[in-house]
Amino acid sequence: MASITKPDPHTQIGEDKKRKYRITIKRDLCIGAASCSAIAPKTFGLDDKNIVLIKEGEWDKDDLILAAAQSCPVFAIIIEDMETGKQVFPEPTKN
Ligand code: SF4
Repeated sequence: MASITKPDPHTQIGEDKKRKYRITIKRDLCIGAASCSAIAPKTFGLDDKNIVLIKEGEWDKDDLILAAAQSCPVFAIIIEDMETGKQVFPEPTKN
């Protein structure tokens, strides 16, 4: 079961102990393209203004969650590995 926090009005962070990844969404970046919710419909949905939100309940499998983030044209979905704390997507830029 996912737990969702909202550290600011534009951000949602979701964690599900059964899943590998922590999800952060930047709702102010979202353009409502809906590819995330098409790929991982149990994890991502759209509100009445067509802006992404993280769903409660049982999420999709890890590979679908990552694929959904990779499909986002504006990089509004950030994926971190909960075990290592490292950002998986978007890949952090190297110096
Ligand atoms: S794919 Fe990106 S832009 Fe499209 S609804 Fe999801 S978060 Fe928003």
